[in-house]
Amino acid sequence: MRRWKCKVCGYIHEGAEPPEKCPICMADRTQFAEIDANGDEITAAPVEEPKPAPVPQETVAVPAPRQSRFGGMLAKLVLGLHLHPISVHFPNGLLPASVVFLAIGIFLGLAAFGEAAFFNMIFVLAMMPVVMVTGYLEWQRRYQGAKTFLFLVKISCSIVVLLCLLALVIWRFIDPTVTDPASTDRLLYLGISLVMLVAAAIAGHLGGKLVFAGRGR
Ligand SMILES: [Zn+2]
Repeated sequence: MRRWKCKVCGYIHEGAEPPEKCPICMADRTQFAEIDANGDEITAAPVEEPKPAPVPQETVAVPAPRQSRFGGMLAKLVLGLHLHPISVHFPNGLLPASVVFLAIGIFLGLAAFGEAAFFNMIFVLAMMPVVMVTGYLEWQRRYQGAKTFLFLVKISCSIVVLLCLLALVIWRFIDPTVTDPASTDRLLYLGISLVMLVAAAIAGHLGGKLVFAGRGR
């Protein structure tokens, strides 16, 4: 049985041929490389390819985009210390708690829970730049910025989370009574928090698929 590894997410497929599409990240079959028993890529026999015609010098003289020293070090730090999977624990842990607190505050009339939800959301909002920047760097470096379905959904979800969080925090800041049981907007407020929670759950689920793609089940 031959083994194929997705170069985008690390998923391993067993079979005579690579799959049409990666079931994890939806990358197409050209992204699959055959690997040996040690997991090393088997370099395919060199395919005969017509040599490209020599290009006049002035057209190739475009300077390659230079990466700043700081940018390179930051990316190394983020990937080496797994800062993205670590930082996503803040939204993944605190957002469900915030929504539960919010519901308790609204339905049981316990204002302290509404307050707790508010402060949790402020904390997560403060962490979101770290979550999003580390996620972006990981996507660019580890997955070569692959624009597959999985990454586009993940990025969209994180933007939805950020916008919902901003709306909830600003709304409550302007109108501290919005989460009171007597507030007419309380269910709309709770609804936005549920949309935020679903988006965070989808992003987290897809992240889990990526992290575990290269491992045995
Ligand atoms: Zn894949």
